[in-house]
Amino acid sequence: MKRRTFFQSAAIGGMAAAMAPVVSCSNGTYNDQEAGERYRILGEILQEPVFKKTLFADPVIIRSVELLRFENSYICRVRSENGAEGISVAHNDMRFLVPIFLHKVQPFFIGQDARELDLIVEKIHDFHFNFRYGGIPLGIPLATIEFAILDMMGKIAGLPMGQLVGDLHNEKVGIYVATEFRDRPLEEHFERIKETVANYDAKAIKIKVGYLFAGSRDIHDPGLPGKSEKLVSMVREHYGSDWSLYADSNGYYDAEGAIRIGRLLEENNYAYFEEPVRFDQFLEIKKVADALELPVANGEQDHSYSNFRWLLANEGLEIVQPDTYYFGGFIRSMRVARMADALGKTCIPHMSGGALGYIYNSHFVSVLPNAGAHHEFKGYRTHVPFECPTSPLKVKDGKIKVPTGPGLGIVIDPEFIAKHERVRP
Ligand SMILES: [Mg+2]
Repeated sequence: MKRRTFFQSAAIGGMAAAMAPVVSCSNGTYNDQEAGERYRILGEILQEPVFKKTLFADPVIIRSVELLRFENSYICRVRSENGAEGISVAHNDMRFLVPIFLHKVQPFFIGQDARELDLIVEKIHDFHFNFRYGGIPLGIPLATIEFAILDMMGKIAGLPMGQLVGDLHNEKVGIYVATEFRDRPLEEHFERIKETVANYDAKAIKIKVGYLFAGSRDIHDPGLPGKSEKLVSMVREHYGSDWSLYADSNGYYDAEGAIRIGRLLEENNYAYFEEPVRFDQFLEIKKVADALELPVANGEQDHSYSNFRWLLANEGLEIVQPDTYYFGGFIRSMRVARMADALGKTCIPHMSGGALGYIYNSHFVSVLPNAGAHHEFKGYRTHVPFECPTSPLKVKDGKIKVPTGPGLGIVIDPEFIAKHERVRP
C-alpha cells in the first residue's frame, strides 16, 4: 500500500474543500482541492503562537545584545532592563557573519519586549530588507540571539529553553550516528563508518550516498560507478536487521537517479532518504516521494516556510528537517514541525552548530510532539568548557538525556566567558 498519511484532525478533514486549488499537480494519488485545503490549513498553523508569553506577567525589555569574541569562539550575551541575563554559544560559522549580526540583526532587538519573540523573529526579515539575506547569513545571527533570549527567559521562568516553545514530549533524545567520508573510496568509507559508530552506544546510523551535492555530479567520485550502491548493502549486511539505517545524498541525484538508489535503500530496509535531490527542486522531490515507498526527508537548507508548506500540502515530504541555527531559531523551526505534525508527518531537525549544537538540538527535540526515533549526532567535540548538573550528556542505550535546568541548562566556565571581548560595529 502506498505510504500516505491523512489528516489527523477530524476538524481539518471535515472542512469543505471550497478553496480554489493553490496547486495543480494532480497525479491521481490526491486531488488539487485537498492539497489546496491542506495548504490553507498550514498557513493558519504558521500564524499560531509558539513562544509561551503567558509565563511572563511583566515586560522583559531587552537592554543589550552583545557579541563576544575570543579567537574563533563567539558568544552572545543578552541583558534585560531589570538585570536578567542569557548566554548562547554561536555556530562555528559566526566568524563569517559578524557584520550582519552587528548591523542588520542586533539593532532590531534593542528595546523590544522579549515576550514578543514570536513576532520579532519574523519582523526581523523585513528590517533593513533582511529577507535578501535569507539562509545561513540571517539564520545563524538570528538564532544566536534567540537562543540567548530563550536562555534568559528560561532562567526567569525556571524552565528549560525548549519548554518555552512547546510542551515536554521527550525527556531523552534518541540519536543516530551521522557519518561522512563520501569522498573516500568504498573500502575506506566503510571502515571509517565502522570506526565512528564504534565510539557510541547507539544502534542507528546515517550514511552518505552519492557524491557531495547536485552541482558535483560531474566531479570524479572515487569508486564510482556503483560505489554508493555497494555501500548501501554492505552497511546493512554488517550491522544486521535490528539497526536503524538512514541515507542522505545531500541533493546529489536527479529524480531518476534518486528513485533508482531509493529502491535499493528500500530493498535494504533503510528508514528514510534525506535530500534525494536538490533541496529547492520541490517538483523533483515530490516526484521521488511519489515513486518510492521510502519516506523522503528534506529541509536542512531551507530558509523560508514556502518549500515546507508546499511539499507538505502536496504529499511530497514525510520528514521535515529544519536546522535550528540556519532557520533562525526554535520558534521558526517549531512552526515547521507543527505544520508537519498537523498532517501526521515527522520532524527530525538537522543538527549543526559545532560547539554546542547537539545540546540546542536536544532541547528542541524534547518538545517536539512528532519527533522521529533517532536524531542527528556528530560527536561531543567542543571548544566550550562547561558542566551540566542535570545530565551526563552522553549517549547511553542510544539516547541522550535532555538537561532539565533553566535555560540552556549548563554552566559555561566563567573564566572561558571572561576571555571573550565585545565585538564592536
Ligand atoms: Mg543532510
